[in-house]
Amino acid sequence: MNLGLYGLGPRNRRKWLAVDLGISFAPPEIPGIDIIMPDVAFLEKEADAGNLVGLVITHGHEDHIGALVDLWPRLGCTVYTTPFTHALAEARRLGEPGAPKIPFHIVPTGGRTTIGPFDVEFVPVAHSIPDSHALAIRTPLGLVVHTGDWKIDPTPVVGNVTDPARFSALGDEGVRAVICDSTNAIRDGISPSEIDVQAGLTELIAAAPHRVAVTTFASNVARIRSIAEAAMKTGREVVLVGRAMERVIGVAREQRMLDGLPPFRPADAYGFLPRDKVVAILTGSQGEPRAALARIADDDHPEIALSPGDHVIFSSRTIPGNERPVNRIINALVLQGVKVITDRDGLVHVSGHPRRGELEQMYKWLRPQVSVPVHGEPLHLSEHADLARRMGAREVVRLVDGDVVRLISADPSLSAEVIEEIPSGRLYKDGHVLVGAEDPAIAERRRLSFSGLVSVAIAMSSKGDVVGDPMIDLSGLPRLGVGGTPLDEVVEDAVLNCLDGLPKARRRDPDAVAESVTRAVRGQINAAWGKKPLCHVLVVTV
Ligand SMILES: [Zn+2]
Ligand SMILES: [Zn+2]
Repeated sequence: MNLGLYGLGPRNRRKWLAVDLGISFAPPEIPGIDIIMPDVAFLEKEADAGNLVGLVITHGHEDHIGALVDLWPRLGCTVYTTPFTHALAEARRLGEPGAPKIPFHIVPTGGRTTIGPFDVEFVPVAHSIPDSHALAIRTPLGLVVHTGDWKIDPTPVVGNVTDPARFSALGDEGVRAVICDSTNAIRDGISPSEIDVQAGLTELIAAAPHRVAVTTFASNVARIRSIAEAAMKTGREVVLVGRAMERVIGVAREQRMLDGLPPFRPADAYGFLPRDKVVAILTGSQGEPRAALARIADDDHPEIALSPGDHVIFSSRTIPGNERPVNRIINALVLQGVKVITDRDGLVHVSGHPRRGELEQMYKWLRPQVSVPVHGEPLHLSEHADLARRMGAREVVRLVDGDVVRLISADPSLSAEVIEEIPSGRLYKDGHVLVGAEDPAIAERRRLSFSGLVSVAIAMSSKGDVVGDPMIDLSGLPRLGVGGTPLDEVVEDAVLNCLDGLPKARRRDPDAVAESVTRAVRGQINAAWGKKPLCHVLVVTV
């Protein structure tokens, strides 16, 4: 969930430029939460004080743009981005009722614009989505390069090429600092090109006897083009399945990224095409339960079904954390007799991030004095830091969220280092509501999922006598405890024994009754089950 801030000026008069506003997907340990985003409380305050000059979006991946609709209303600034990224954001907004109308300033690919005291050049780079840009940020004090997500690929099929001449020219101009992608900093060598993936896919599709379905990221237009080219060469038609896929393809067609390809067929055409004349392109490569692939694997898709002998190609990498849902789908497909092909079986995918050989190339072009590794796990950042030092960066700064680094100073004796920490944190999207990561509701939900809930309602007279029978409800507990005693009976006994044993004075205090009953119930359930559930006791005076 990327969000970077560049500040210029002394602390009391500092202007901020924000770069990217992304989301991350929540792990299963956070029950009921799908999406996490950065807490922008600090930036919101700066925006209110008139110190936020703009937000730049480098490219259209969710980890860079996904929080825009939810968080822009808190910032209210102009958003600067390039044509394809803008069109994607607009297409998404139109699909979301109530999404805010955001003021965009569209900069052409490779363009340059002034934002407050910053002069920002959008330098095209190759990546796994079209229209990705590094930023050359010029200030009166010097030039820093924010690479965004990038790789080197001279034949990317669709989208920008990382131009050696442009980056060398920036190096000649004098780069004070580079803030650079670390995602693949532990992988040696240079990534294969998208055109090699296209060749790999063509070979596999040509060899397939029956239907072929390929799953990939909807935003990877170059990959979709590669699959379509492979289909064309092997005499097959392309059927597009999944709403996200249709939305991106609509934008890509408008932007003329799919010229020269025959039109794709809608999902309802699938059933009428001969088995050896079809390639279906599907969403769901990360195991998303509601996406096309998961539904097909469960034989639950209204239009698409697979038969024994059909092939499914995962033209993707499983993002860490998604292994379980992806494996579940692979196994379900294998049980249907489908042959599953992944990147273990051939060149069917290539990452959009630079391996070590490409990082070295970038350092040779830019020759920065300062390196700040970003966009990676701690291991990736530390490997990148070592590489940067080897490549001649004199100062390498390691960051954690919230650190403020002095990159450039008017006083050349001051080095690049962390000088301050600003508030940072995470927000969870809970239904339609944004809550802080520390919200007690989240911890409570985790406890509920672990040990369930016992609810007890007791009516008492003002003299402290129990009126009628207590009402008891158990949810999320097994029916029987050890020894076979029903747990609802254990609760009932615990409640009645506890009430019987309470001195009269204590019985007249509803809070004291609730506290004693809670303790008794949790203790007895623990003895019978081995776990302590949450316990809610409601005492009503009648
Ligand atoms: Zn990206
Ligand atoms: Zn990214």
